[in-house]
Amino acid sequence: MGSNSKTIVWFRRDLRIEDNPALAAAARDGSIFPVFIWCPKEEGQFYPGRVSRWWLKESLVHLDQSLRSLGVELVLIKAENTLDAMFECINATGATKVVFNRLYDPVSLVRDHNIKQKLGEQNIAVHSYNGDLLYEPWEVYDEKGHAFTTFAPFWDKCLSMQLDPASLPTPWRLVPAAGSVKRFSIEELGLENESEKPSNALLRRAWTPGWTNANKALAEFVEQQLLEYSKNRVKVGGNSTSLLSPYLHFGELSVRKVFHSVQMKQLLWANEGNSCGLESAKMFLRAIGFREYSRYLCFNFPFTHERPLLSNLKYFPWNSDQALFKAWRQGQTGYPLVDAGMRELWATGWTHNRMRVIVATFCVKVLLLPWRWGMKYFWDTLLDADLECDILGWQYISGSLPDGHDLHRLDDPELQGSKYDPEGDYIRQWLPELARMPTEWIHHPWDAPASVLKSAGVELGFNYSKPIIDIEKAQEKLIEAICLMQGKAGAAETNGNSEVVVDNSENFRKSSIPKVILKENPTCVSASSRDQRVPSMQNLNNNVSPNGKRPRVSIEDGTPEPNVKACNGNTEAISVREADLCSTADSSSAKRQATSSSSSLCVPHTYSVSSKGKDLFNCESSDAKHPWKERG
Ligand SMILES: Cc1cc2nc3c(=O)[nH]c(=O)nc-3n(C[C@H](O)[C@H](O)[C@H](O)COP(=O)(O)OP(=O)(O)OC[C@H]3O[C@@H](n4cnc5c(N)ncnc54)[C@H](O)[C@@H]3O)c2cc1C
Repeated sequence: MGSNSKTIVWFRRDLRIEDNPALAAAARDGSIFPVFIWCPKEEGQFYPGRVSRWWLKESLVHLDQSLRSLGVELVLIKAENTLDAMFECINATGATKVVFNRLYDPVSLVRDHNIKQKLGEQNIAVHSYNGDLLYEPWEVYDEKGHAFTTFAPFWDKCLSMQLDPASLPTPWRLVPAAGSVKRFSIEELGLENESEKPSNALLRRAWTPGWTNANKALAEFVEQQLLEYSKNRVKVGGNSTSLLSPYLHFGELSVRKVFHSVQMKQLLWANEGNSCGLESAKMFLRAIGFREYSRYLCFNFPFTHERPLLSNLKYFPWNSDQALFKAWRQGQTGYPLVDAGMRELWATGWTHNRMRVIVATFCVKVLLLPWRWGMKYFWDTLLDADLECDILGWQYISGSLPDGHDLHRLDDPELQGSKYDPEGDYIRQWLPELARMPTEWIHHPWDAPASVLKSAGVELGFNYSKPIIDIEKAQEKLIEAICLMQGKAGAAETNGNSEVVVDNSENFRKSSIPKVILKENPTCVSASSRDQRVPSMQNLNNNVSPNGKRPRVSIEDGTPEPNVKACNGNTEAISVREADLCSTADSSSAKRQATSSSSSLCVPHTYSVSSKGKDLFNCESSDAKHPWKERG
């Protein structure tokens, strides 16, 4: 133990004892005051949904028990304002330092940046640590120092970089810092209300939140399922994947530990020449890479929770139809696979990645509903609701990523049903009204002969919906929408708006992605290169940051400053919206203004997509072999 300093350890989504850098640093220094501050107002539109709050509640109880066994208690506070609550803790304990592990979502970036500044003004030392990622978003850049905008080169680069060695030692004893603040019981936090309790009780049957349970789940997965992961991960309906996402989201599991555990197996299988094991380990690490990439994109392109990475959807004629949105949410579209996925999501707060892709694609490309509606609904209903992963998923299916699905690609849910649920078991589990349908018809009951429907007790339009829209009609409407979008974009360009709108399948190089330079001229609030980096609006407006350095984020336009540069209308030199360049550490209102701004974005011309990077989530690109047009 070092000095006698008193440190506030601010827990957020790092609800674990093991390999927790902020906790380990504070414990080394002296006594600690561990606190969790719940401030619903600050969560704003990203207030977590029922199942996610249930998980949080259970995990907090679990963490408190662990901390007590080490000698300290977790102080729970419900507050109107996190900063005020923090000052209350500082005054009550006489602490001179606050530590926490970094988060990268837009809400946290804004809040943490402000808190750091305000505490600093009062001479309170603030240290933040990397407890959530393998690689910090500002550490990974291409050979020109630019942020990557496609996954494959990003991940290749990550894998070539030095990774912090094994986990930090777990503290075996913690010294409490005395102090009296108004403490709240776990019930008083209001994470779960009375009416939610019966539904939540069902979740307990399937899930056991808490960091020690996360460790067990990881160990079991690595020993038992990892070997077959590459084969099984495409199966919907079974435990074909690790189910670690909620643990990872709440930081109950150190991603470093996950990575190292899988790498150990990879080494073992390499020595044994076990190709199946090697492929599985590679695919699983790649999945962990998607999570890293989600944070990377959000940090470097902080507008992505409001607006796509590619600007091609700017003029897309979304169909803001509440009735269609309701039918989708309730699993009443008449497409069995989609409906089963939506009902599983509602009932359990979880669904397989493949199902997420299928239902999200249906929402955007068949119903033409705005992708942000779907993203928000997932946010409200997923147990593992994670803003960055959610954004990545929805942009991937909406044709908004250079290496995501093409916008015009529409996979037929009927074909997908036969492929991912060949026996129809998944449908039978989630749509009992179709349970007696023969497998042959279960994914397209509208084609079944009347006698088959009758003997299965299915009355389309009565006990199971008729298809909400014919899939061929949907394909036509999608193409019309894309044409309209392109027409409007062309008109805007003729009228002097140089934003380029393209289908991202062929010409994504022409689409607008602001170029973010990571390598040069970093500006950050803190002095340490290991500490949180947050570009600020001030930097962007004034060109020079408070510490005299140039802003960290800028476009590559050949001139040092300012960041916003006029465009000449060709595909490679377009101006940049200010808010695209500022991090979410700046006010969201500034970003809202920018979102509605009519100015356009800079086009990077150097990034490239390798063929292996073309389809971000699917190595096998399986759906691409069965696009809608190949039907029949
Ligand atoms: C539209 C859409 C929305 C999504 N929303 C979320 C979300 O809110 N929260 C969330 O954690 N994941 C989200 N995902 C990603 C993915 O579906 C889940 O992470 C995965 O299904 C979790 O199951 P698992 O832990 O068994 O995954 P495994 O296949 O075992 O993967 C291990 C871990 O890697 C990460 N991972 C795997 N696939 C992805 C991916 N495609 N993107 C990002 N990380 C990935 C997760 O942390 C996961 O726990 C979304 C995907 C789509 C298509």
